Amino acid sequence: MKKLLLFIIIVCYGATALRAQAVDIYQKYFPEPAHDMPLPIVSGKSDENYYTSYRNVMEFIRQLAEKHPDLMSVGSIGRTQRNRVQPMVQITRKSSIDDREKLRVAFIGCIHGNEPLATEGMLYFIYLLMQDQKYLPILDKVIIQVMPMVNADGRHAESRASNNGVDLNRDLTILDAEESINIKTAINKFDPHVVVDFHEYSPARQDYKELNDCFTSSYDELFLYTGNLNVDPAIRDMIRNMFVEPTKKAVTEQGRRVTDYSTTFRVDDEVWLNIGGIASRSSATNYALQNRVSMLMEIRGLSEKEKAGKRRIETAAITALSYLQIAYQNIGEIKATLTQADARAIAASSPSVATSKPEKIKKDYVFVNECTVSDTTITFNANYNITQTAVIARPKPEAFVIFPVSEKIKTVLSVSGVEFKEVTQSLQTKVQQYVEEKKGSVNLNDRDVTIPAGALVIDTHQRMSNVIADLIEPEGANSMYTNNIIKKKFDEKEIPIYRISKEQLLQLHTN
Ligand SMILES: [Zn+2]
Repeated sequence: MKKLLLFIIIVCYGATALRAQAVDIYQKYFPEPAHDMPLPIVSGKSDENYYTSYRNVMEFIRQLAEKHPDLMSVGSIGRTQRNRVQPMVQITRKSSIDDREKLRVAFIGCIHGNEPLATEGMLYFIYLLMQDQKYLPILDKVIIQVMPMVNADGRHAESRASNNGVDLNRDLTILDAEESINIKTAINKFDPHVVVDFHEYSPARQDYKELNDCFTSSYDELFLYTGNLNVDPAIRDMIRNMFVEPTKKAVTEQGRRVTDYSTTFRVDDEVWLNIGGIASRSSATNYALQNRVSMLMEIRGLSEKEKAGKRRIETAAITALSYLQIAYQNIGEIKATLTQADARAIAASSPSVATSKPEKIKKDYVFVNECTVSDTTITFNANYNITQTAVIARPKPEAFVIFPVSEKIKTVLSVSGVEFKEVTQSLQTKVQQYVEEKKGSVNLNDRDVTIPAGALVIDTHQRMSNVIADLIEPEGANSMYTNNIIKKKFDEKEIPIYRISKEQLLQLHTN
């Protein structure tokens, strides 16, 4: 009996100690804000409905719009595969400035269905804009579109992907999901100067756990922005210096710890960091190639579930407000920089970069040790994708020609905002063709061909010139050739992409 009692005491004491320890890292490193927040997540109900459901999101924004009809309206960008409306909230105030002249800022949330904090953060952001009069002057000069839950099916199913299993933030150059087409179509239509896409990241990465079982990331938020060399350099600078760095500071001043976004990979058996990104299939680069200021935010989440929920919602809202304020304070400079970038794109004078390599750096990453409740800094070797060097680059031709043509090729081009024409009369001429001599090794060969009626002609002198470079140069990791959208015949080396000169472009009859 005595032994049993002792056993019970030890078990109870042990459990209490463990619980105290679990609470400690949150109290010490991730304390909740003291003030009230209006969303269902902070109702204190820790059941499976802890995060705002699709239905409640729709209800929340409907009620808020009903209360503030002068500032806010609710629309939709389309429907998900399971027929759920993809909501879109437009926010601005009628002023002496025409809506079409205002600076346009877009916020996207919950592309990944198992990252509900992105939605919660956007709802709280909208709520704050409606609640506090101090934001009204911003709404006179800025027009905002918020898409708080683009992957409503994934949210409902607690899954990262869409209903047909597509990761929507790896699909922006492939367009295998209706939701991606709807997002990109909505972005092209609104034509935002600034786009911010919210996500959650897992602080308990397997590679970190393998370094030390007690490690969890110390960061409240990670910043992802592009190093893709096809993105106009002035836009890359503006993203980093005008938007990211001051927002890091603003969020840090609110007691958050932040750093650049990274994933991990292994070189031999050593863990390396892969910092930043260049992949156009994902939002941070995709919209920057369209000459927009574009950032992707990763709020600490996923494995955290409901822990420190209020804090993390607030982190997202502080970040969105910082970007909004920066946009408002720099309207003239942002518009001028993007207009100049458009002019450079139309001139098509910068090279198309098919492949590039990142700078190698050492990077400190701070972990919270959950067992000792203290910080540990680890210095990693890292690929720093923000600074790239071109490996394969070519001057842009006057125009690209593609044949044979498929509906998919046309869809990818038009949903990416690229203008193209179709040949109406065949033309025999000498062109340059891409030829893959062996896997990964592509040359340009001169060839006599007959360009048939129906062939696609893409003039590179257009606003989406940088998108074209990324989609067409075959070696690119996200090109239509790499993604098997433009296909070569099985046993041939010739890729059906051609480069033509100004004279040839003038000779071609197109619609
Ligand atoms: Zn995500």
